[in-house]
Amino acid sequence: MFTEADALERDAADPGHRDLFHVPPAEGGRYAEAAYLAGNSLGLQPRATRGDLLDDLDAWARLGVEGHLDAARPWLPYHEFLTGTAARLVGALPAETVVMNSLTVNLHLLMVSFYRPVGTRTKIVIEDTAFPSDSYAVRSQARFHDLDPDATVVRLDPADVLSYLAREGHEVALVLLGGVNYLTGELMDIPAITRAGHEAGALVGWDLAHAAGNVPLELHEWGPDFAAWCSYKYLNAGPGALGGVFVHERHLGDPAVPRFEGWWSTEPATRFEMAPVSRPPATADAWQISNPPIYAMGPVRTSLEIFDRVGMAELRARSRRLTGYLESLLDELPVTLVTPRDPDRRGSQLSLRIGPGSAHELAKRLRHEFGVITDAREPDIVRAAPVPLYCTYHDCWRLADALAHVIEEVR
Ligand SMILES: *Cc1c(COP(=O)(O)O)cnc(C)c1O
Repeated sequence: MFTEADALERDAADPGHRDLFHVPPAEGGRYAEAAYLAGNSLGLQPRATRGDLLDDLDAWARLGVEGHLDAARPWLPYHEFLTGTAARLVGALPAETVVMNSLTVNLHLLMVSFYRPVGTRTKIVIEDTAFPSDSYAVRSQARFHDLDPDATVVRLDPADVLSYLAREGHEVALVLLGGVNYLTGELMDIPAITRAGHEAGALVGWDLAHAAGNVPLELHEWGPDFAAWCSYKYLNAGPGALGGVFVHERHLGDPAVPRFEGWWSTEPATRFEMAPVSRPPATADAWQISNPPIYAMGPVRTSLEIFDRVGMAELRARSRRLTGYLESLLDELPVTLVTPRDPDRRGSQLSLRIGPGSAHELAKRLRHEFGVITDAREPDIVRAAPVPLYCTYHDCWRLADALAHVIEEVR
């Protein structure tokens, strides 16, 4: 039933938007293009990125300093060109959204505002499989407040978060979880956990690195205090691309919320008054510090416009079809799925436990012998993401076919 011809037929009936992207050549196997299933780690380059970036570079060559105001996309308000599309992507108000810095930097800036330990309410809840950068960030925040990170940071199995909050929530200052877990691909119940955190009197933030551009989000309605994400995974804005930030409306313009500030934290109209005291706007822009890196913002702008045109509803629907198809193929193989089976509890990523044997060794063979690109987390997890924008049913079929050939040899 799951033949190559069947995969090609599905592609003809349900094409994505692969033509908008550069797909790397295969390094091995019988096909010209790689089966690229690592978009959860680094998304592919949109074809439009290079031209858009060159336009922005030309403005500098032609205009010098005058490009701040006179470029076709002027540099002074450049970040504003990204706000509308970023806000729609995560279900936020434009005033709640800004694109700036990198993800972990933004988590720190947001914790300056929203991790305020007082008395016995000092704890930070994260998941036991938290991405290491997030774990280092919260531990260093605890130390910054002269607290013992081992006693302050509580690492929980995601299934235990709600009961922990009901029992010990009075000691929790901040809940900071991944919206989609980077390792297992599990999509958390963001509204329910947000509500439970608030009922316990804590503030709630979400790391949406693996959720933004992967699953539909309604941040304004769900009501977390803040969120941050990167733009180089599902968002295809290139290695190290700038991240996005959400601060809920209820905190905007509140003088009681502390922030680290610089000249981009003030009202644009007052920026060049060179005044000693800032007048921050009542928007997430107030969390900006420095003038933004235009050539890092450009690719984020290009990519967000693709998401805006296609829409998350269409992407989510195709993601379910592709991911479900890959799941059926993998069920024929001796691998264990660690990602939830329920399509409502996952995005585009399936994580496989390959049993004894090295995940890196397997990923290497898939790449060099079959031109199939996945990514490995030691000791035995291989992650594969059939990204709905540019992946195909044939890509999924190639992964299953390659796994069938090598899995027994790797263990
Ligand atoms: C990818 C990822 C990061 C990366 O952080 P940077 O600051 O962008 O280097 C952090 N946290 C999570 C959960 C991630 O998935």
